[in-house]
Amino acid sequence: MDEKPQTTLTDGSPVTPDHREIDPRTGQQKAYVVLSSEERAKGFVRPVREAYRHLTCGTVTRMGRALAETYARQPNFYSGTFCVGCGNHFPVGDKEFGGQFVWAGTEEYVGT
Ligand SMILES: [Zn+2]
Repeated sequence: MDEKPQTTLTDGSPVTPDHREIDPRTGQQKAYVVLSSEERAKGFVRPVREAYRHLTCGTVTRMGRALAETYARQPNFYSGTFCVGCGNHFPVGDKEFGGQFVWAGTEEYVGT
């Protein structure tokens, strides 16, 4: 029996070796990895939140459902995330470990 892949790209397609390439027009990666829909369906340990604020610049960035559910299923899945204000990626996680983002409307650090 084949084991289902644990991760896919946000559209459900297989992870590609070049997905981390940065699109120079947007500063964003070509694609982002998420937990597979089967994995996300196992349940969430945090609320599904779709917007976060970059503490450095104050800009709120929204993300798609698959990314939001991946954070809710496994809060430490990502080491960094994108800020639309800065046009770049910065670390997530606890403040003492250099995390720069909180969930919009909260003081809770993204990735914790
Ligand atoms: Zn920013």
